[in-house]
Amino acid sequence: MKQASHVVLGTTNSGKLLELIELLEPFGITCCSLAGLPEALNVAETGLSFADNAALKATQQAHALGRWVLAEDSGLVVSALDGAPGIYSARFSENIAGASKGTADERNNALLLERLATCAGDRSAYYACHAALADPTGTIVATSQGICCGVIAEAAQGTGGFGYDPLFIVPEYHRTFGNLSPVVKSLISHRARAMREMIPFIVHRVLR
Ligand code: IMP
Repeated sequence: MKQASHVVLGTTNSGKLLELIELLEPFGITCCSLAGLPEALNVAETGLSFADNAALKATQQAHALGRWVLAEDSGLVVSALDGAPGIYSARFSENIAGASKGTADERNNALLLERLATCAGDRSAYYACHAALADPTGTIVATSQGICCGVIAEAAQGTGGFGYDPLFIVPEYHRTFGNLSPVVKSLISHRARAMREMIPFIVHRVLR
């Protein structure tokens, strides 16, 4: 019989899933997504912070599945927009009249450029990722976080990554994550940093 993977990743976002698997599997941590798990829930992200939402997703899915669950909540924090889109990054353009063309990522990126066009100067931003690991009873046993600082471009550059990546310039490389290789993102991203802090807990608590 096939061995169940060590952790269920509490997300359905394909961009995140791909990155999380690439970050965890080199450490012998096998992962599966929520897809195909009939008991998986559609967790409402009602928290007021990334940390709250990561904990909600990990706890509720772990309790429903009776499995170890690693969840993360992440997003883009833009200084000139008072921290928006923040925890609403995935839903930024939802409910905006006329924003109906393209994918959600394309609509979010268009809205971000539109909002920044009216703010003079400061285009600094950072990505944040908060992760939570819940045991099969739904108890949080570890949390971690990471950030990655950048600048929002005037126009999309590149097709790599997902979400806001074509607009997110990494100053050290003078290029967006849309243009940089996934290897670079796997070294310096908010998600990579949060996972580097989380991996020892998973190895110690789940793989032992
Ligand atoms: P969540 O699924 O509620 O955590 O929302 C995550 C959203 O934040 C994504 O849908 C993207 O809009 C944005 N986001 C988070 N991490 C990244 C990233 O690494 N690249 C680009 N966008 C990201």
